[in-house]
Amino acid sequence: MDTPLALSDFEPRSELVTPQHQVLQPRYPVVDAHNHLPIEALAADPTRVTQIVQVLDEAGVQTVVNLSGGWGDTLERTLDGLDRAHPQRFVTFCNVDWRGVGEPGWAERATAQLRRDVAAGAKGLKVFKELGLRHRDTAGRLVSPDDPRIAAIWAQAGELGVPVLIHAADPVAFFRPLDRHNERWDELQRHPDWHFYGGDLPGFDELIAALYRTIEAHPQTTFITAHVGCYPENLAFVTRMLERHPNLYTDFSARIAELGRAPYSARRWFLAHADRILYGTDAVPMVEMYRNSYRFLETEDEYFDYAVGAPIPPQGRWKIYGVSLPDDVLRRVYHDNAAALLGLG
Ligand SMILES: [Zn+2]
Repeated sequence: MDTPLALSDFEPRSELVTPQHQVLQPRYPVVDAHNHLPIEALAADPTRVTQIVQVLDEAGVQTVVNLSGGWGDTLERTLDGLDRAHPQRFVTFCNVDWRGVGEPGWAERATAQLRRDVAAGAKGLKVFKELGLRHRDTAGRLVSPDDPRIAAIWAQAGELGVPVLIHAADPVAFFRPLDRHNERWDELQRHPDWHFYGGDLPGFDELIAALYRTIEAHPQTTFITAHVGCYPENLAFVTRMLERHPNLYTDFSARIAELGRAPYSARRWFLAHADRILYGTDAVPMVEMYRNSYRFLETEDEYFDYAVGAPIPPQGRWKIYGVSLPDDVLRRVYHDNAAALLGLG
C-alpha cells in the first residue's frame, strides 16, 4: 500500500473474460413506452426531430411514447411537432396542472382539461413523481396520489379509456440518510435535489402505499407504473401488486440497473408477467443506449455496464447480467403490450 486512493477516483476495469455480444437490432420492433421529448427542447433545434427519427430507425425503434406533452397549447404544439408530423413514430401523453388543489372547482376544471387534451390526441396521462413529493395544495400541504380531491382525474381517464402512466416515490436509497451506507451515494452527490429525506416529506413506504391504494380504488382505469412498479428493488412486492390488480401494468424504464443486478429473479419476473410489462428507457434516444438494453434483454452476457460511456456507474457501483428472454416474451415486452394499450400497429 503506497498512495491512498479516493473512492471518487477509483474506476476499476474488470479482467473477467466471458462471452460478449453486441445486439445491433432488437429481435422485434420496439415501442419505447417511457420517454420525454418536451416541445421547448425540440423547438430550440429545428433538426432535432429528424435526428431522433434517424436514431429510432437505426436502433429498430418503431414508436416512442413522449410523456411530456403538457396540456392545452403546449400539447397542441407537441402533437403538431411529433405525433402529426410522424404518425406512429411518436405518441404523446398529456399532463395535469396540479396547481390549485383545494380551490373550489379544481377537479371540474382539471377533468375538463383532460377531456380536451385527449380529444386533441393525447394517448394517455402521465403523472410525475412530484405528485406526493412537491405539489402542494392551497394550504401548503403535499398532495398525495390518493387524495380524494384529485380522484376524479383517475376516474376520468378510465372513462376516456386512456392509460395513466404514473411514477410515485423513487429509488429506496433516495429516502435514506445520505451516509456511507447509501448505495446511490454518487448519484445523490450529483443530484442533491433527488434526496427526499427529512422535512415533511413522506417516507418511501407511505408513497408506495398511496400509489397502490389509488390503483385499487380505480379498477376501471388502466395504470402503468413507471420503473418496475415504482419498487424495482423488491420484485416479490411488484409481483404481489400485479397479481392483486388486473388494471396494473408497468414499464421498466431507467431500471435495467436494478433488474440486471438480480438476473435470476428478474428473468422469472419477466416470464411470469410477460403480458403486463412494457419496454421503456426514460433516456435521451441514442443508438448505443438502446442497444445496451437489448443486450440486457436478449443475451446471457455477464457483468457489464448498465450505462454506456459512464466512468462511474450513474445509479450505483455495480454491473448487470443479461436475462436472455425467450422470443414470445420479448415480442410482448418490446411491442405487443404497449401496442395493445395505445392502439398502435
Ligand atoms: Zn420519466
